[in-house]
Amino acid sequence: MTTTEDSRTGTIETIDAVPEIAPEAAHPSHPGPLETAQVQLARAVEQLGIDKGMHAMLATPRREMNVAIPLRRDDGSTELFHGYRVQHNITRGPGKGGLRYSPSVDIDEVRALAMWMTWKCAIVELPYGGAKGGVSIDPRHYSTGELERVTRRYTSEIMPMIGPERDIMAPDVGTDDRTMAWIMDTYSVNKGYTIPAVVTGKPIDVGGSLGRATATSRGVVHSARAALREIGQDLPDVSVAVQGFGKVGSHASAFFAEGGARVEAVSDQYGGVYRRGGLDLPRLLDHVHRTGSVVDFSESEPIDNDALLTLDVDVLVPAAVEGVLTGDNAEHVRARLVVEGANGPTTAAADRVLTRRGVTIVPDILANAGGVVVSYFEWVQAQQAYWWTEAEIEQRLEQRMLQAYGSVAEMARREDVTLRDAAMLIGVKRVATAHRTRGLYP
Ligand code: NAD
Repeated sequence: MTTTEDSRTGTIETIDAVPEIAPEAAHPSHPGPLETAQVQLARAVEQLGIDKGMHAMLATPRREMNVAIPLRRDDGSTELFHGYRVQHNITRGPGKGGLRYSPSVDIDEVRALAMWMTWKCAIVELPYGGAKGGVSIDPRHYSTGELERVTRRYTSEIMPMIGPERDIMAPDVGTDDRTMAWIMDTYSVNKGYTIPAVVTGKPIDVGGSLGRATATSRGVVHSARAALREIGQDLPDVSVAVQGFGKVGSHASAFFAEGGARVEAVSDQYGGVYRRGGLDLPRLLDHVHRTGSVVDFSESEPIDNDALLTLDVDVLVPAAVEGVLTGDNAEHVRARLVVEGANGPTTAAADRVLTRRGVTIVPDILANAGGVVVSYFEWVQAQQAYWWTEAEIEQRLEQRMLQAYGSVAEMARREDVTLRDAAMLIGVKRVATAHRTRGLYP
């Protein structure tokens, strides 16, 4: 492909801390999310002809905070958790990115997720950089009061880093709108006045946006539909499997079904359910609200998470966690289209295998960008104290998603690369250009 960047980076050539690339070779069977993210960046850097100094800047988080979070438990004992906030890049605007509560959270996972946010915000042309936060806690084992105390303590520890002009959090795995309300309240009480724009994904009654709760899922379905149109198909022509039945996966399943697709399998961390010809989504959602899991839904057969990924369906939507599609199981994926609802579900090795096998992947930094797009709308509304209708939000979301998909698909055709490579080329180039335009201080 052609080299589309010049390398007028001047003084930043002196930075020499480029991380070792090709890390997947170091952990061939279990590359972590940071390795996957660094491999993706290294490919884009090479294709764009970006020099070593700029690569080092793009590969390295701008700011990180590592905090200890002591929790006073309901029984009077004390337990300590580790929390993180990483601002990968703040060159195009404030940091933007979710907060994750999961036992798997560590600094490298948060770094990877923050880096993906940087490219994602650039691809959908939001005036944000990329950030992410996490606490290594399994929220299922703690009471509401305990989770509130963890959230408020975490917020107060990272207070110097966050703010509507600095870094804006949103829900991710294991957190929700209530978590955002606690953060907003803790931040506002400490500042002395109400500051809704410090978080997005808040409840509507404290300044949340209509359409935010379903935005990521709508975006997943918009991008799936756009990818299907390229091969002359639409939702009623396809069967779908969705891994993860949380905030992203459950709404995406419902929207796929509403659009006429047959959603044949869904799963969560406890197991999965399958029904040839399509699951009855309203009844399944009712079952999940009652029991907390998709497991044991009466009108279906059980299926495990591994089998779901290789099911004979047209569209596969990984919408749970990172690294589920690996070099091994990618050989057996039968879907023709993978739409990444989750962040980082496909390792670099799986990416190569799927591409070789002709499977189209709509990458996370494009497919799940609907959430941050409506988070941006929420932030704009909060700053202006002027609220849009749900119809306005959904129409603007669809427009942004289709526009971003169109630019990525056009780049992929022009440069003869995958949608992921094309999305990375667009995102990385926009961020590198912003660095060059601003220049390097001092
Ligand atoms: P969530 O906590 O609401 O749901 C996660 C779901 O995945 C749950 O159903 C859980 O049971 C399931 N799960 C967890 N581990 C699993 C495993 N090993 N195998 C199968 N299922 C498993 O989280 P969410 O907000 O829906 O986020 C899901 C993914 O989407 C994450 O990668 C997140 O970063 C990404 N994402 C979320 C948003 C958002 O707006 N919430 C936006 C963009 C991307």
